[in-house]
Amino acid sequence: MYRSHNCGELRLDHVNTQVTLAGWVQRVRNKGGLIWVDLRDRYGLTQLIFEEGSTAKELLDKAGSLGREFVIQAKGTVIERTSKNDKIPTGSIEVKVADLEVLNPAKLPPFLIEDETDGGDDLRMKYRYLDLRRNVIRQKLQLRHRMMQETRKYMDAAQFIEVETPVLIKSTPEGARDFVVPSRVNPGEFYALPQSPQTFKQLLMVSGFDRYFQIVKCFRDEDLRADRQPEFTQIDCEMSFVTQEDVLSMFEGLTRHLFKEVKGVELEEVGRMTFADAMRFYGNDKPDLRFDMRFVELNDLAKGKGFGIFDQAELVVGICAKGAAEYTRKQLDALTEWVKRPQIGAKGMVYVKYNTDGSLKSTVDKFYGQEDLTAWADAFGAEPGDLMLILSGDTKVVRKQLSELRLKMGEDLSLRDRTVFKPLWVVDFPLLEWDEETERYHAMHHPFTSPKQEDIPLLDSNPGEVRANAYDLVINGVEIGGGSIRIHDRATQQLMFKHLGFSDEEAQKQFGFLMEAFEYGAPPHGGIAFGFDRLCAIFGGSDSIRDYIAFPKNNSGRDVMIDSPSTIADEQLQELSIQLALKK
Ligand code: ASP
Repeated sequence: MYRSHNCGELRLDHVNTQVTLAGWVQRVRNKGGLIWVDLRDRYGLTQLIFEEGSTAKELLDKAGSLGREFVIQAKGTVIERTSKNDKIPTGSIEVKVADLEVLNPAKLPPFLIEDETDGGDDLRMKYRYLDLRRNVIRQKLQLRHRMMQETRKYMDAAQFIEVETPVLIKSTPEGARDFVVPSRVNPGEFYALPQSPQTFKQLLMVSGFDRYFQIVKCFRDEDLRADRQPEFTQIDCEMSFVTQEDVLSMFEGLTRHLFKEVKGVELEEVGRMTFADAMRFYGNDKPDLRFDMRFVELNDLAKGKGFGIFDQAELVVGICAKGAAEYTRKQLDALTEWVKRPQIGAKGMVYVKYNTDGSLKSTVDKFYGQEDLTAWADAFGAEPGDLMLILSGDTKVVRKQLSELRLKMGEDLSLRDRTVFKPLWVVDFPLLEWDEETERYHAMHHPFTSPKQEDIPLLDSNPGEVRANAYDLVINGVEIGGGSIRIHDRATQQLMFKHLGFSDEEAQKQFGFLMEAFEYGAPPHGGIAFGFDRLCAIFGGSDSIRDYIAFPKNNSGRDVMIDSPSTIADEQLQELSIQLALKK
């Protein structure tokens, strides 16, 4: 038996018990005749004591020679501490050691294995197995584990069947590049890794499974960001004989269940907003509703008064920051510089201070009198003490810029509290999205999304206006999940591919199997997928999904611990019938 107890469980009740513990040396404090060793495992920390006089000299020397992260086994008696530590659960006792065995010595770790570490990101990732020893990191993965268990519980109770779908497949168009895997037995041919199990889950509906789910790895070859990894995990679901309403209510239920069971939070009812409103009022299809600061459009009030910049703009639009009229000139200049940075790209910013004495002061006083500014203030619902920030330009562009500014103001005014959760369903997404680069329409969600019945006639005349039965779940400005009601008949699916620029042959070659399946009795169906890593990060109060993934990749898609991706041997390439011709 390696251990009788773990390092987190001994209490005063155990005093005088003989115990055997095993774990890692967190710290050694050597006061000459008195040595304390903090022994750590996943469950906690227990203090070991070695004392001159009552401890054999040999044992004392052995204890003195222990280094950080040595793996040891200690046998001894639990005693009450004279000076107790109320910061840890085992702080009332210590173990007086009678026998000590070094199970494995350790090299000095390259960074401190403590909650606050001195290791930088790169170093921590290279030695991720040491990083994972840190409580703060392990707790994040334990949170992930809880979320997984609770997800399975909820889905199982709601009669979803967990089915694994293949990883070596062919392309699923979810809008990113595919990762591909060469086939040795089919020279010159490649599998693609799934961007999602989309077509398979739809086929399971054709098979009559009725309710499917899977906690599944997906792969997308995209540029990386803090909330993106080339491989990530989805809670992927599909249901038959459902309307959009059925799907929303089922997954609102899952979200509520997770918040309650994992965080002890009773989530408020999930509001609804159309995509069009989200863009109009927040400039963003994933608005952060922890704070208000809705956009107010000023075209009617601001145009035609001789201010050329506003007169020429397609849209004049602003936000009102409550209580921010105290911003100093310096702060306002800095804000103007901020919106002018290339990442935001605004040409300038107009501001109006609603002073506490009731007067209004703007950067465009030359063109607008107090009366004009009062009308603006009314439109904003502004009160004395508030600050109005206004941008102008092309509608799409200026909304995006103002959305960034809104988020920054929310941050600066501490309105984005990580302990507050504001969920929202964004609905009625456009079916198609114009792509400037390729000069054609793309599916905004994916090509299997069904258009709203009443909008189908617009497909030919005004494709950009067609709305889809598609929805996203947004929490605190983060897209947590998205899905849609699907097309389930061959003719509509074919029509959709046509509008996406596929020839009949291309559509048949790539998705013939799905369209054929639709001819064998496909039930109406729909579903959703949650980004599981992001959901975990939101629950943990973090912006980065990386901490919630045991072995994540860095910004260049590398795993620096195992040093991957890497070159492969010539023999391997030969076997795969691949000849490299790398461009310099
Ligand atoms: N496959 C979709 C995605 O990964 C989700 C869905 O439509 O269910 O975004």
